[in-house]
Amino acid sequence: MTHVLDGNAIGDRIRNDLAECIETLAAADVRPGLATVLMSEDPASETYVSMKQQACEEIGIRGVHREIDPDAPAKALFERIDELNDDPDVHGFLVQMPVPDHVDERRVLRRVDPHKDVDGFHPENVGLLVAGHARFKPATPHGIQKLLEAADVDTEGKDAVVVGRSDIVGKPMANLLIQKSPGGNATTTVCHSRTDDLGEKTREADIVIAAAGYPELVDGSMIKEGATVIDVGVNRVEADTEKGYKLVGDVEFESAREKASAITPVPGGVGPMTITMLLYNTVKAASIQSGVSVDLP
Ligand code: NAD
Repeated sequence: MTHVLDGNAIGDRIRNDLAECIETLAAADVRPGLATVLMSEDPASETYVSMKQQACEEIGIRGVHREIDPDAPAKALFERIDELNDDPDVHGFLVQMPVPDHVDERRVLRRVDPHKDVDGFHPENVGLLVAGHARFKPATPHGIQKLLEAADVDTEGKDAVVVGRSDIVGKPMANLLIQKSPGGNATTTVCHSRTDDLGEKTREADIVIAAAGYPELVDGSMIKEGATVIDVGVNRVEADTEKGYKLVGDVEFESAREKASAITPVPGGVGPMTITMLLYNTVKAASIQSGVSVDLP
C-alpha cells in the first residue's frame, strides 16, 4: 500500500503546537507579528500573500500588509523595508517575489534585517544554513523535512535526488539533506535543466524530491520500487474544467504511486506545509527577539 502523505493533516498538527507556543508568548505579553510586502499586481502573488495573512489571523499572529505601486521607484520599497526592520511589533517579514524588473531582487533580499528574514533568503541566513546552524530554514524545504519525519522516512544513509536547483527550493533542500543532523545524512544528488538523463538519476534514488516547475516531468518509469516521492511542483495545465485549467505537480501521480511507498499529492501535499513553516519561523523570530523561550514543534 502506498502511503499518500497528507500535508493538510501534518500541517494542522504543527499549527496546533505553534498555537501553544503563541499562548506561551502571549503570557509574556508578546504577540508575534508577520508583515508581507507586495509590489506587484500578479494575481498569483496576491493570492499567496492573502493566504499567508489568513493563516496568521487563524493562529493568532498579528498580520501586517504593505502594498507598493509596482511602478514606484525601488526607493519606495526600500523605505518600507527599513520601516519594518525598525518596527518592534514586526518580528518577521517578507517581500513577495517576484518584484518588478526595475527593482534589483538581490538588493531587496539583502536589505531585510536577517533577524526578521523569516523566508531565510538573506545571504547571512543562507550561510548559516549551509554551515549547519540555520536560523530560519526556508519554509518549503523545511516543510518537506517535517513531512518526511511525520511519515517515518529516515533520510540517514539514503540516496536522495533533488530535481531543481532554485534558491528557494532545490538548493536549500539539498543543503538540509546533507547536514549531519536529523532529517539529513542523505547522500544527495542535485539535478537541473542541464542534467543528462534525469531518469537514470531518479531511478537510483530512495527519496525523490521534484521541484522543477515542469508538469509531470517525473513518471513511474523513473521511480525505484519502494521510493519516497515528494512533489513540490504546482503547474497550471489546460483542462476541461470551469476555470479552464487544473493544477498538476512535477510528478505524474498515478504512475509514480504504483512504484512509491510514500508520495505527496498536488494539491494537499507540500503546499500546506510551506505556509505552516512560515508561521513556525515567525514564532521562532518572536521568541528569539523577546527572549521568551518556546517549545517549537
Ligand atoms: P524555478 O523555476 O526557480 O527552478 C526550477 C529548477 O528546475 C531550475 O533549477 C531548473 O534547473 C530545474 N529544471 C527545470 N526543468 C528541468 C528538467 N527538465 N529537468 C531537470 N531540472 C529541471 O522553480 P522553483 O521556484 O524552485 O519552483 C519549482 C516548482 O515548485 C514550481 O512549480 C513552483 O510553483 C513550485 N513551488 C511550490 C511550493 C509549494 O509550497 N508547494 C513552493 C515553492 C515552489
